[in-house]
Amino acid sequence: QSLLLEVNNLKTYYPIKGGFLQRTIGQVKAVDDLSFEIKYGETLGLVGESGCGKSTTGRTIMRLLAPTDGKIVFDGKDVTNVTGKSLRDIRKDMQMVFQDPYASLNPMQMVGDIVSEPIRNYLKKTKKELKAEVLDLLEKVGLPEDAYYKYAHEFSGGQRQRIGIARALALRPKLIIADEPVSALDVSVQSQVLNLLKDLQKDFDLTFLFIAHDLSVVKHMSDRIGVMYLGNMVEIADKESIYAEPLHPYTQALISAIPEPDPKKRKDRIVLQGDVPSPANPPTGCPFHPRCSHAMDECSKTKPILKEVKKGHRVACHLHT
Ligand code: SF4
Ligand code: MG
Repeated sequence: QSLLLEVNNLKTYYPIKGGFLQRTIGQVKAVDDLSFEIKYGETLGLVGESGCGKSTTGRTIMRLLAPTDGKIVFDGKDVTNVTGKSLRDIRKDMQMVFQDPYASLNPMQMVGDIVSEPIRNYLKKTKKELKAEVLDLLEKVGLPEDAYYKYAHEFSGGQRQRIGIARALALRPKLIIADEPVSALDVSVQSQVLNLLKDLQKDFDLTFLFIAHDLSVVKHMSDRIGVMYLGNMVEIADKESIYAEPLHPYTQALISAIPEPDPKKRKDRIVLQGDVPSPANPPTGCPFHPRCSHAMDECSKTKPILKEVKKGHRVACHLHT
């Protein structure tokens, strides 16, 4: 079996409450019929503008949010509706690295305690074994030994993200969901943290779901790339195909906005009209049609489904059927 994760027709909707009685008056379709898979050992980059449902996707797979519909298969097990001990067991094998290392770590907790916490929660270890493991993890993420007795607030953003990564690795998970792991960091340390993640992927046999809005970051990290728009996967393919031959008009616009230092290679930037519509009231048909310069009659009527048009390259667009 070569797939670590399979997501099929996943929907995650949030209720919108309103009025005096806070009744449910609508729903936000944060993730709306999303399907993709991740192979063992690969990195799938998930891109799209903010609010397109990337983080909700990650949090639903982690089962921090309950899916509304669809199916999540992790490591051969259907985990869509697991609870209690089964959910706890699964969480051991998937961990999350969050965007904001300032918010996701308790600043007043000692690094040794932060990093050892997952191990203490799941495994019986002596104090000595625990400390040895934490020191080993600190070394692997490039932190000095004396970090052990320091507090999270004593570290810079990049170092704090290293602490968060050490904690995520503590149980030797199979899957890491990294949600914008460098976007809160100074540009000067971003590539250090990205390279660290790449090195750790080899050492720890990790599979990554790498979420980012920055296409150059995703390009650096990913084997395959999925492009999300309004809760939908609109295109998914190998990194090379996505950048060399984007098929979906939205992907084409995103790629045209990446700065290209070589003027000879520079293409015209496709500027998108208008804003992303609200996921509480998504457009009919193709979710991208109000902003698409290729839109045809059919586009506002029928929703295109994600179809394989070349080997390993799937796109949801009526131009490609
Ligand atoms: Fe544009 Fe139509 Fe394709 Fe949607 S289906 S991306 S509106 S051409
Ligand atoms: Mg997000």
